[in-house]
Amino acid sequence: GYTSQAASSLRVATQPSSDSDDEYADVDWDKLGFGLTPTDYMYVMRCSKDQTFNAGQLTRYGNIELSPSAAQILIQAIYEGTKANRTEDGRILLFRPEQNAARMKYGAERMCMPSPSIEQFVDAVKETVFANKRWIPPPGKGSLYVRPLLLGSGPILGLAPAPEYTFLIYASPVRNYFKEGTAPLNLYINEEYVRASPGGAGGVKTITNYAPVLKAIASAKNRGFSDVLYLDAVNKKYLEEVSSCNIFIVKGNNISTPATNGTILKGVTRKSIIEIARDQGYQVEERAIEVDELGEADEVFCSGTAVGVAPVGSITYRNKRMEFKTEGRLVSKELYSTLAGLQTGRIEDKNGWTVEI
Ligand code: PMP
Repeated sequence: GYTSQAASSLRVATQPSSDSDDEYADVDWDKLGFGLTPTDYMYVMRCSKDQTFNAGQLTRYGNIELSPSAAQILIQAIYEGTKANRTEDGRILLFRPEQNAARMKYGAERMCMPSPSIEQFVDAVKETVFANKRWIPPPGKGSLYVRPLLLGSGPILGLAPAPEYTFLIYASPVRNYFKEGTAPLNLYINEEYVRASPGGAGGVKTITNYAPVLKAIASAKNRGFSDVLYLDAVNKKYLEEVSSCNIFIVKGNNISTPATNGTILKGVTRKSIIEIARDQGYQVEERAIEVDELGEADEVFCSGTAVGVAPVGSITYRNKRMEFKTEGRLVSKELYSTLAGLQTGRIEDKNGWTVEI
């Protein structure tokens, strides 16, 4: 629950050690997928009536108590996703968590919610990961996925911002997001369902971008596709993104990805891939990409915290299946090797992207 103690004293007072002295929890690491594996602790911080988050604390992972009138949990709810990895030499690394904190702040502003400060967010992620460290998979076997939530949890009846908010973080060990593992994805362009429209909240990790696509994803999966690639809502002509990742196309030395103008999530992986690719001498453009350009692309790939960098083998649009390079020297593979190397400590981090716990 909410307490007015200073964060620093709370940190010392409540920081639990892991449940057992064993380095690892009892998990069959070779069987890890992307399902939820509950861990020991979650972090909860409530916002006082003056709209500021004061001090949070770790508690045992479990159900949370909510007022039945916490109607804004359906309306004012945003979330984040980031990962912690173990390095070969036994360190624990977070990857650019301040970017997720900044995105939560941006999303909260759009949703009329108060948000934790960047420092509060990053500290809370660190505490949650540390308390659950025996659930971080061994090097090469996956990551600890960390999910922060921000919810309008105070009682209210009408349509207005909630009187109180809850910030919560839980974590789960994960490996591959898609059942394809690291095999190429087969995407489907669905023109029937719209994901986000201009002026809406497409750039925010909120309900309006996920609730409407469950049906589109289910229908694509039923037909054997991995996921859906959405087009812009107005012209149905420009690429936007996949259900939970961003998209890139490669043509020679040029790498393009749709510009983020409010309808697309600003992926932390997207931003990192753009920076890595530029550093490696590619010409990277953030621009409007017409669906017809796919016909000329050499390679297509997706990026996201959960998926990493995933090559796209085919995209089906109006009954036409377009295929892309997935073998031999792949730009996506080289970029991912650098990204994953930084995330797991194999490559020295000269950019200050990783945060050691
Ligand atoms: N687009 C959407 C809709 C997403 O849900 C995600 C996952 N957060 C992404 C893109 C990728 O963002 P990131 O690289 O920050 O995980």
